[in-house]
Amino acid sequence: MAKKKVKTERQKMMDKIRPWFSKFIRIRDCDCFEMCICITCGCRKHWKDGIHSGHFVHGLHFVEENEHAQCGGCNTYCAVGDKYALWMVQEYGRALTESLYRLKSNQKKHTIEELEEVLKLYKQKAKEIAEDKGISL
Ligand SMILES: [Zn+2]
Repeated sequence: MAKKKVKTERQKMMDKIRPWFSKFIRIRDCDCFEMCICITCGCRKHWKDGIHSGHFVHGLHFVEENEHAQCGGCNTYCAVGDKYALWMVQEYGRALTESLYRLKSNQKKHTIEELEEVLKLYKQKAKEIAEDKGISL
């Protein structure tokens, strides 16, 4: 019982962090016109309209190098995974790309306190990067 409750609290925290982390990624990846280019199909969309923060390694949470602007279509279409991998190797090199898989298998469960810190951090980072780029959240 107690364990289940803890998991629920963590899940709630993860749900709170998710939109802020996603905002941070999409704003980081947009240009001065607030447009993002999908890393897998190259389409250009407004960061608030049809752009997701797409994971490279699924299930690896809140790692900046693991998420990039991707259109909704590509993000839900698994077949673009190879393209994402090629883009990752080009962008970061093979070593870092491969290290993300290891990071996932070694990923420890964040405590609630740690998740609160992550939430604070990405709220702040999203606000800062939006201000830097002159974008309203
Ligand atoms: Zn796309």
